[in-house]
Amino acid sequence: MAVRYLSTRDARATPETQRFEDVLLAGLAADGGLYVPDRLPHLDRTALAAHAALPYPALAAQIVGLFAGDAFPPGALLDAAQAAYRGFRHAAVSPLVQIDQRLWLLELFHGPTLAFKDLALQLVGQLFDRVLSRKAERVTIIGATSGDTGSAALAACSGREAVDIFILYPHNRISEVQRRQMTTVAAANAHAIAIDGTFDDCQDLVKALFADAQLCGALNLAAVNSINWARIAAQTVYYFAAAAALGGPGRPVSFSVPTGNFGNVYAGHIARRMGLSVERLVIGTNRNDILARYIASGDMSIAPVEPSLSPSMDIQVSSNFERLLFELKDRNGAAVADAIAAFRRSGALPRAEREWRAARGLFFAHRIDDTQTMDIIARTYARSGMLIDPHTAVAVGAAEAELADGGGAPMVALACAHPAKFPDAVERATGVRPALPAALADLFERRERITVLPNDKAVVARYVRDHARRGGRTG
Ligand SMILES: *Cc1c(COP(=O)(O)O)cnc(C)c1O
Repeated sequence: MAVRYLSTRDARATPETQRFEDVLLAGLAADGGLYVPDRLPHLDRTALAAHAALPYPALAAQIVGLFAGDAFPPGALLDAAQAAYRGFRHAAVSPLVQIDQRLWLLELFHGPTLAFKDLALQLVGQLFDRVLSRKAERVTIIGATSGDTGSAALAACSGREAVDIFILYPHNRISEVQRRQMTTVAAANAHAIAIDGTFDDCQDLVKALFADAQLCGALNLAAVNSINWARIAAQTVYYFAAAAALGGPGRPVSFSVPTGNFGNVYAGHIARRMGLSVERLVIGTNRNDILARYIASGDMSIAPVEPSLSPSMDIQVSSNFERLLFELKDRNGAAVADAIAAFRRSGALPRAEREWRAARGLFFAHRIDDTQTMDIIARTYARSGMLIDPHTAVAVGAAEAELADGGGAPMVALACAHPAKFPDAVERATGVRPALPAALADLFERRERITVLPNDKAVVARYVRDHARRGGRTG
């Protein structure tokens, strides 16, 4: 039976239980919850062992196919995956590079916008196209970005006939490369909007726009931020690929993941629950350490967002954590809704001893501040000649802390951005300014279109209405 999707806030299986293509287009459930599969597909050892022989697009088609049911005709997923990963600058798509005896980097930055978001969004863009053209529909995508999702989503959707896309980013809180990657997209269907506020404000605005039933209906709103289940599914793929390359399924592997919205490390958790042999999943945070504090003490309380060297992780409210909470609360949707409401109201998740202990059994976490980040970039360069970006440095720092604590498995730190995406920090740490790949070499000469709007739902809604070409059906 095909996988169906439930909301984290209402786990009853009703006739409204969603299919993959509905979840792909909707992003967020109508009750404000996040979609989760009603059950997880399982891969046995033979299937896991066979992964080592597959090219990345074939592996992606196979894994995402387990979640997609009959949403696509035979062969369509493979076509989509091949189209999605054709433009990557490395034939392996997500190559592994060894740093020392026990530490590897998984390079996830060879896509068009130089961050790991491309691995999911290039595929999701292809899937959107195929589903929309079959349904003869158009959509208006609205998303919030802490920097990297936005450029990856704009790159995945720009010029697509059936899609208009609006991306909200926090004004002056992202790097110049990140901003330029969004503001220099010339396509008429692609809009980057700077919001006077933080990433959390942008995310709240997106939620408010989706809660506006009239706007939703008029423009056929769709989401591509990391709450979209299709993205989580696509992100599990490189965990399977890396483990297979390092000798899985016979040999367990550990992963260290620089974490903000909890989408990437949660995908690792899903891969593990699907049968992948993972020894440790390590969360790396910067000074915005709400997740590290939670794992250490059970305290999940919001602190003000502080800018750091790794802006894509400058987040206090990690949306995807709600999916883990759903699991920790034994899939009790009403209990999740209550806990999230209390979190929103009081700024702290109600303490729950049993759930916290369960979470500690699933994840390790380390906080790496900016001083440590600079030191890790410098040390990694000194010992390996490799330039790593500040997000990758957080993953390496958390990996090293965890290796020092023991554990025998190879440790894979996820290299989530190209060093040239954050050149100032890398240059300060190493004295070397990383160069942009050739395809982006003229980024600083391209013309920017900058729009700044206040943190005000009505103003943003009006802007979207005025600039969207049209939602609804094309037919
Ligand atoms: C998005 C991003 C992160 C955080 O990933 P989440 O899935 O939000 O936890 C970390 N590093 C980089 C470079 C990113 O772009």
